[in-house]
Amino acid sequence: MGDRIRVEDGNLVVPDRVAIPFIEGDGTGPDIWRASVRVFDAAVRAAYGSKRSVDWIKILAGKEAYEATGEWLPDATLQAISDHVVAIKGPLTTPVGGGIRSLNVTLRQVLELYACVRPVRWFPNVPCPVVHPEQLNVVIFRENMEDVYAGIEFPAGSQGAKDVIDLLTGKLGYKVDPLSAIGIKPMSEFNSKRLIRKAIKYAISHNRKSVTLMHKGNIMKFTEGAFREWGYQVAKEEFGDAVVFENEDKEASGKVVIKDRIADNMFQQLLTRPSEYDVIATPNLNGDYLSDAAAAQVGGLGMAPGANMSDAVAVFEATHGTAEKYAGLDVANPGSLILSGAMMFDYIGWSEVADIIEAAMEKTFQQGIMTQDLARQSPGVKAVKTSEFADAIISNMEP
Ligand code: NAD
Repeated sequence: MGDRIRVEDGNLVVPDRVAIPFIEGDGTGPDIWRASVRVFDAAVRAAYGSKRSVDWIKILAGKEAYEATGEWLPDATLQAISDHVVAIKGPLTTPVGGGIRSLNVTLRQVLELYACVRPVRWFPNVPCPVVHPEQLNVVIFRENMEDVYAGIEFPAGSQGAKDVIDLLTGKLGYKVDPLSAIGIKPMSEFNSKRLIRKAIKYAISHNRKSVTLMHKGNIMKFTEGAFREWGYQVAKEEFGDAVVFENEDKEASGKVVIKDRIADNMFQQLLTRPSEYDVIATPNLNGDYLSDAAAAQVGGLGMAPGANMSDAVAVFEATHGTAEKYAGLDVANPGSLILSGAMMFDYIGWSEVADIIEAAMEKTFQQGIMTQDLARQSPGVKAVKTSEFADAIISNMEP
């Protein structure tokens, strides 16, 4: 049995035979996991022969966990993830009613996975709605702990809403309709700064050109505007010579340029001038919208990988939902989970594996091999099954 990853002085120590927990997920989760794990093992073999390997440890969440234990997200699962530092998961059903908001949100909050990281790039031949998809290659760092995710809301007419409205209209002197529903948007210096710090560190270590702070600070001055200010502070105070600022007249070669864009403009610019953006750091709600819009621009959510990260612990996940209607049919696109795995290998320092997976997937698309979600948008292309797509990626691997 493989050993756990350890964290020493903030760095991951990864054994050659490593144990990594996985959550299969609900709906199409088992279909895409079965395909993905074959791709992962083949890529590790292609990169390192028998020198390195992964022992996959099944842990439970979602429907399968509920049926086995009566819990949607058992404590043992949370413990296994934090013990092993890194884990990978398929999509989970959000139980309707039953007092649990979302398993994904709970996982992020409990393990304090404060950064949601979503790389978005185009693979040649993948159908998409824009003329120059190749110009988009961004990594979105979205704050995961607060803003609307904090979930502080009161229904219209409730005592909670009434109490807040009394405070607003009384002591604080605002005008608010007494029957309003209320939502509260807390954003802290601590959470904003640690997210932005992670984004800048990533940009430096991955030779990215810029970090853009996306915010709606022109309207929400003390939350989104503060996010922008805190971002510039982190960059100035902690990264010194490694960064420059867009508006300063400095030689930028080799340094990460820090800039900011108002959220609505960011959406436009990603469509009209995509090559000017690289790493993007954003509060939660902006990032929620932007990451799905960016994924759609290059071929949709079926392809978009993601990770939720703390300083060390990281859970890599398919970004789409359970696509229930395709469950068990071997037709869903495993691309999102496979690319999330590639991100995971890059994160644990096995970047050769990530490179092999991405190159093989690129070649597979170039051969016109794709699952039905993409094939049906590509005239003349016949869809392959989930498992056949994985077979094609494996046969296209080169060490
Ligand atoms: P969904 O992503 O399951 O489906 C949206 C559309 O995309 C559907 O047409 C679906 O068939 C298609 N699709 C999604 N993934 C695909 C894939 N891999 N291959 C081919 N087509 C794919 O979103 P939904 O219907 O809004 O949500 C279904 C369930 O998933 C809900 O319970 C929701 O809460 C949950 N969900 C989970 C996650 C997660 O675990 N990270 C994310 C989003 C939604």
